[in-house]
Amino acid sequence: MRQDRLRRGPKHRFVRIRALDELDDLPPPSPLPLFRFCAARGCKRRARSGGRHCVGCHAAAVRRWREDHRRELAVRRRDAAAVRGDDARARDSARAKLAMALRRGTLEQGRCRDCGDSEVIGLIEEPARWRDVVWMCREHRQAELERRRDAAAQRAADAKQAAWYDERTLALAAIELLPPAERARLYALAARGPAGTQLSPGAPLYVMNLVRSYKASLAG
Ligand SMILES: [Zn+2]
Ligand SMILES: [Zn+2]
Repeated sequence: MRQDRLRRGPKHRFVRIRALDELDDLPPPSPLPLFRFCAARGCKRRARSGGRHCVGCHAAAVRRWREDHRRELAVRRRDAAAVRGDDARARDSARAKLAMALRRGTLEQGRCRDCGDSEVIGLIEEPARWRDVVWMCREHRQAELERRRDAAAQRAADAKQAAWYDERTLALAAIELLPPAERARLYALAARGPAGTQLSPGAPLYVMNLVRSYKASLAG
């Protein structure tokens, strides 16, 4: 009943949870626009930002799920390890097949994809399709590998950013559930900038301090 009223009523505007996209585009921490109740039966706490359940109920659900799927998770981990081993074997085998095909003359060495040079090295994209080898001169092969390394580094950085975003969202929601005195203590810690300066609640460093202080308070 109450949930219905919330969804339709004039408070609807405040029920919506604002996306915390940019580090420097954060709303000030007090008050945070988190006005949704946990969907778990009988739970009166506020839902996590962007989620349907409160921090406690969500964590409990994740624990239950992991416990129920312990065996499948272990199998999946083992399979992943085995696949990585197979990957390396497949690449070695593809290189050997390519060398053999060149010796037998069933496959001809091409020219550099990028500059047409005849001094080339083969770059095998997919071990199963080793005949689709891409021929490249040393220089262009190097450039290609560097481009791939950069792309992988970018993906890793994006993943790290996403992990921090999740951690921050969870921590800010959890802080909202704390008693006012404890919250005030964390806000005061968060405001401590370098060399005795005071940080404003909108500053990225303030939010980092806040999350760090909250985690420290959990550990202590
Ligand atoms: Zn709950
Ligand atoms: Zn080239």
